[in-house]
Amino acid sequence: MIPVQGLDGSRVAVLGLGRSGLSAARALRAGGAQVLCWDDNPAARETAEAEGFACVAFKTEQHLEGIARLIVSPGIAHLYPAPNPVVALALAAGVPVDNDIGLFFQSFASDEWDNFDSAPRVVAVTGSNGKSTTSALIHHILEHVGRPCQLAGNIGRGVLDLDPAVDGEVVVLELSSYQTDLARSLTPDVAVFTNLSPDHLDRHAGMGGYFAAKRRLFAEGGPDRAVIGVDEPEGRFLAGQMSQGPVDDRVIRVSVAQKLTGPGWQVFARKGFLSEYRKGKQIASIDLRAVAGLPGAHNHQNACAAYAACRSLGLAPKVIEVAFHSFGGLPHRSQTIGEKDGVRFVNDSKATNVDSAAKALAAFGNIRWICGGLEKEGGLDGLAAASGSVRKAYVIGREAAAFAMQLSVEAEVCGTMEIAVAQAAAEAEPGDVVLLAPAAASFDQYDNFERRGEDFAAQVAKVIAAP
Ligand code: ADP
Repeated sequence: MIPVQGLDGSRVAVLGLGRSGLSAARALRAGGAQVLCWDDNPAARETAEAEGFACVAFKTEQHLEGIARLIVSPGIAHLYPAPNPVVALALAAGVPVDNDIGLFFQSFASDEWDNFDSAPRVVAVTGSNGKSTTSALIHHILEHVGRPCQLAGNIGRGVLDLDPAVDGEVVVLELSSYQTDLARSLTPDVAVFTNLSPDHLDRHAGMGGYFAAKRRLFAEGGPDRAVIGVDEPEGRFLAGQMSQGPVDDRVIRVSVAQKLTGPGWQVFARKGFLSEYRKGKQIASIDLRAVAGLPGAHNHQNACAAYAACRSLGLAPKVIEVAFHSFGGLPHRSQTIGEKDGVRFVNDSKATNVDSAAKALAAFGNIRWICGGLEKEGGLDGLAAASGSVRKAYVIGREAAAFAMQLSVEAEVCGTMEIAVAQAAAEAEPGDVVLLAPAAASFDQYDNFERRGEDFAAQVAKVIAAP
């Protein structure tokens, strides 16, 4: 745990008692703060009370009297579409609003660091897609080279649950737009921006607010090094704003859409090869086509971003390349889970929307595509252009028939995962890929996308074990 510094003896309110809220409450208490908390869910309050935390329904400004700060969980709206009533009260009363990420950055450095040979560093990753994969890959590479490192944020542990840093350690944080929007302190040493596409727009009052939230990680004079995906106008703008001029190598530009020329520092992937250029000279080239854990252009973008972050930490290209090969991928994201008679089975249950499913479809050839579920707004038109490699679709979900009707490829209505996997496997030929990339939420049949991916894996295991 990282005890919170700077609030010793203060009264601090914690709103939302999920994983990050509870760990904030504990870290505040460890740092000497008096914690008052609230969650609308009685079960969450019970858990907090069992740990000795006092729960108070913050209903009037009086309840917030003497409160030095309000710590808000990421699931609670702080501004759009409308502030949560407690947040609105705090804002009216002039109580600063913050989150666990802000507390982390204000508390991470300690007096012990004076005895270290090299200061711990924080790498923070944000963007619309690929955050988890990029963060996990950076962490994997650091582990591979034996560098002390920890992974937290949206992935793995809450930030305040991290262990205090050891000499030379690197902490890798995955940060969502909700988290970067609210944190009062945001001071990573290396900041990574993967890409930008519309998401969570209601919480940010549109695309401009969404970009502004992510951009907070890149305050002028902020990170020593900024790794920025420049395949969208917003990324190009940000990279320009962070540089003093074209050769300023505090910015590493990343692309999977174009060969980056220019005198600065850049990493791009084309036709499956990653290239690094600095001051006009090529520094390295890596064949990503041979990296099983990172299939497809979208993963090559993640590889480039992770590579650039590790290069900025001083790692050599060769060790990064070797580490790529032992990266197993994250569960439920373009993850190969088995092979039988030349047929590969890939789980991308996390492809819950049209955009991410299209990326998964573009990553493979000869696809037997398991899709369907709870359809999201916007329809399925975006899938047509990406369906070129699909041999046939096997549709699951309660509304499988309606889903199948909207596809531009041959589609069989299967309903359940069991039938879909059995049917796809029975029809697959050597060289085919049976891919779960639903392009839909899972809630019509499962608790979440993880359960759906686990069911897929269980059905695949049955097929593989069958004689
Ligand atoms: P995040 O943490 O940002 O949600 P993940 O790494 O968990 O990102 O990937 C989420 C989904 O998006 C997966 O279906 C994955 O295949 C897809 N994806 C991963 N990386 C990218 C990328 N760089 N661009 C677009 N889609 C991606």
